[in-house]
Amino acid sequence: MKINTIQTTVLDHLFEGVYYVDRERKILLWNRAAERLTGFSSEEVLGRHCFDAVLRHVSAEGKLLCFTGCPLQATLNDGQERETEIFLHHKKGHRVPVHVRVAPVFGENGDVIGAVEMFRDATSELEQKERFDYLERMAFIDVLTGLPNRKYVLDSLKARLEEFRRFEWSFGVLFIDVDHFKRINDEHGHKVGDQMLKMVAAALKAASRRLDIVGRLGGEEFVAVVTNVDEKRLLTVAERFRTLVEFSAMRELNNLSVTISIGAAMAQKGDSCDALLERTDELLYQAKRAGRNRVVS
Ligand code: GH3
Ligand code: MG
Ligand code: MG
Repeated sequence: MKINTIQTTVLDHLFEGVYYVDRERKILLWNRAAERLTGFSSEEVLGRHCFDAVLRHVSAEGKLLCFTGCPLQATLNDGQERETEIFLHHKKGHRVPVHVRVAPVFGENGDVIGAVEMFRDATSELEQKERFDYLERMAFIDVLTGLPNRKYVLDSLKARLEEFRRFEWSFGVLFIDVDHFKRINDEHGHKVGDQMLKMVAAALKAASRRLDIVGRLGGEEFVAVVTNVDEKRLLTVAERFRTLVEFSAMRELNNLSVTISIGAAMAQKGDSCDALLERTDELLYQAKRAGRNRVVS
């Protein structure tokens, strides 16, 4: 089987490793990606058998596949395409997880005269990056509610304060606390308490605009960072939060519901993150004393 220059160029520019073996599993073609993924140059493998201490495919369980479970051999035997996840040996000795596809090559009279194996790294950079992005995202998410977590809220608050200092982009903060939440836990158990927190979080999320941030500070306390508002608008947003939570109810628990109290304040010149949170927390305390289920600014 002759391969021309165009075909060689194409093969050498694929990201997938490709090699071709004849019926005796002698390697007759070995592209650049195969060199890169295995560490073996084509000079080192061409003319050798794939089981000659070159690749030595291993199953996920660590079983050597060369003589009992070689996907190439199976395709040479039955002429079927197959696809599998295995490990190959890199020249340096470590194992590389690869996704393998095998296709039969037929001669003029329809017999299987060889097989092509295509393989790619199953821990590609892309997959690693996706995994990293995922972990990074998870580091900023509260597991119970799916809202941004404390770290994310505090980071955002600091960023908004910095913008406020430099460009005078005003913003407001809402400190939100569930009323008599201890009772929910005491009367219905911690599990129901958790479900209730999820419900409150969902209501707060639904009530917020895309650019605003509502996160869980911890326990039954939430903080919203609301941009592009004056004090009056901030109060309207807070009232929307309060009402939406008040009218959410757990159907399966006889429409059990909770209320929230909110301390609302605009950022002021010279505010630090702590000072701003303390101010809203103090307003929240006043809302509690005044009877709960209300907003104080
Ligand atoms: P107040 O109206 O004054 O805020 O009363 P409260 O009962 O809500 O306030 P308190 O701070 O006394 O109680 C908060 C309760 O929240 C106590 C704690 O057990 C509960 N809690 C905190 N975090 C969680 C959680 O993740 N899950 C559940 N189920 N309960 C939590
Ligand atoms: Mg609290
Ligand atoms: Mg509370």
